[in-house]
Amino acid sequence: MFHVKQYDVIVIGGGHAGADAAHAAWRSGAKTALITHKFKTIGEMSCNPAIGGLGKGHLVREIDALDGLMGRVADKSGIQFRLLNRKKGPAVQGPRTQADRALYRAAMQKEFIGVAGLDIIESEVSDLIMCNNKVRGVILSDKNQINAPTVVLTTGTFLRGIIHIGNVSRPGGRMGDKPAIPLAERLDSFGLPLGRLKTGTPPRLDARSINWNVLETQSADDDPALFSFLSKKSDIPRQIKCGITHTNTNTHSIIQENLSKSAMYSGKIDGVGPRYCPSIEDKIVRFSEKDSHQVFLEPEGLNDHTIYPNGISTSLPEDVQNEYVHSMLGLENAKIIQPGYAIEYDYVDPRALKHTLELKDIGGLYLAGQINGTTGYEEAAAQGLVAGLNAARAALGKDSIIFDRAQAYIGVMIDDLVTRGVSEPYRMFTSRAEYRLSLRADNADQRLTNLGFECGLVSEKRQYIFEKKMDAIDKAKTLLNSYLITPTQAKKAGISIKQDGIRRSAMELLSFKDVSFDKLGCMWPDLSKISQEVRDQLEKDAIYINYIDRQSAAVNAMRKDEKLIIPENFNYSDISGLSNELKQKLMHSRPTSIAQAGRIEGMTPAGLALILTSIRKFDVKRTA
Ligand code: FAD
Repeated sequence: MFHVKQYDVIVIGGGHAGADAAHAAWRSGAKTALITHKFKTIGEMSCNPAIGGLGKGHLVREIDALDGLMGRVADKSGIQFRLLNRKKGPAVQGPRTQADRALYRAAMQKEFIGVAGLDIIESEVSDLIMCNNKVRGVILSDKNQINAPTVVLTTGTFLRGIIHIGNVSRPGGRMGDKPAIPLAERLDSFGLPLGRLKTGTPPRLDARSINWNVLETQSADDDPALFSFLSKKSDIPRQIKCGITHTNTNTHSIIQENLSKSAMYSGKIDGVGPRYCPSIEDKIVRFSEKDSHQVFLEPEGLNDHTIYPNGISTSLPEDVQNEYVHSMLGLENAKIIQPGYAIEYDYVDPRALKHTLELKDIGGLYLAGQINGTTGYEEAAAQGLVAGLNAARAALGKDSIIFDRAQAYIGVMIDDLVTRGVSEPYRMFTSRAEYRLSLRADNADQRLTNLGFECGLVSEKRQYIFEKKMDAIDKAKTLLNSYLITPTQAKKAGISIKQDGIRRSAMELLSFKDVSFDKLGCMWPDLSKISQEVRDQLEKDAIYINYIDRQSAAVNAMRKDEKLIIPENFNYSDISGLSNELKQKLMHSRPTSIAQAGRIEGMTPAGLALILTSIRKFDVKRTA
């Protein structure tokens, strides 16, 4: 007899969002199926072989604090760890690594082998099974049916994807892969707000054809900042250098003369591209005053001759790519292994989503990753984790989990997406987080691991290690708080503080710019017993201690407004005095709270007051 398989959660797509979604659903106790075209492309990096960076590195640490995959996989495959903004404060430092593509894929795939309750199905999903506006499962291209009360869709750039190189275009999900057309048509039939976006990738070069002798190089950090709170420095692969070259006036003339042949510039592509990750054509037009741009030549692996030239993504024809690559120092004879290309694809306006990443109008269907208008592996994985967690909880009859803006970059990203939507591919930056002094990469575990443990995402092993670490930190803090010093004693010890007669603790002194742990150790030798890991953490915590106290009032106010719920069927068109533009925006994103309404672009205090008054009237009427 024909047997229909039944799961709690189905995840469609084994990219960065899909891998972390499926794993999070499984860790949450749901029987999970990950359906993807090919097992061997799980963990494939479609573009740059690198994880982390400013803002993105924070997301990876948060994924790891919740026991997600990306951080530990990046540690096993990182071949050039660098902490970006090392000279600035810890709040804006971003861990990043170049990754060995093959090692990354292998480490990610290993996480899915032999996991009971988490099945991998190699196939294409061509349709969704629906019942009363709720998803009930999927239909595969071979017509087999798989049932589940929740489905997470993470199809990346594959929905009606079109690859462009110069004036040549062809359907493709990324180079070498078919697009997903039937599924895109099905989503269209639901009346979802779909749009088109684009992104691009540079040509890949053969390392053996580059003249490395004339190039500057950049090394990995001596003291690598890893992603996972559980990784050890001995776990990472051999570290390598990358090369640096530059575009020049000749490169720019070649590109300028051929702009009309670029798919992005000839008007062939409708989709909007990432402003913060511009193509080389874009850079030359937008920053015409500059006559040179830096290009990092990043090896794609320890045993791979492929070089990723970071900074020259393009959709120019192949012959022009050859010409401009050869115009750069060291690349005069460089051989192109794979041409650069642009890709255009469908995305869903994320204002159609709830904070759980479930569609507001289709029960049980969750979206995560590039399909929501974001760009980047880290943004995708973080959304995957939230969607997988909430899909599992819904399937198991548990409450949803929402991360707020004061708790995690994950919360900032999802709130930005569902409240404001996107006008270009969205990527994370530290500047997007208003509470960034407390949302640091170094304290992601302190913010999230307990919560992850409570909701079943975090393993007992991680929780045990975390609790041990927190115990050591608490003991050290108690010790520091017990050591008191007068301003005169401090002056004698070379610490300049206000001579106000107030005794200060060693913990307070640590928040002073010129006071390090070592300096305190000279006064209180017992402090030398504290481990280096704990010292580093306390020094970072101390820098922001006073700012965070001040920030807490703003956080409390935000959380209070978050509790002022806007009813689901609230009608904004009836509010007199509110501009039509704001009404339109409110109707599009249908905010769930006054706090969320306040974050809609263009919202004013007067507008918010009008909404509040109307809600009160609405509630009175409803109660009557
Ligand atoms: P993907 O990693 O694309 O994974 C999608 C998965 O879904 C694939 O495994 C696919 O096989 C599967 N799938 C699709 N449809 C189906 C179906 N119907 N049935 C079963 N499985 C299906 N990011 C940057 O940060 N900077 C850049 O400069 C950049 N440039 C890029 C350039 C190009 C050309 C491309 C293709 C991507 C680029 N990216 C860039 C984006 C980066 O690759 C994505 O942000 C990231 O991979 C998104 O992850 P995802 O999980 O959403 O999708």
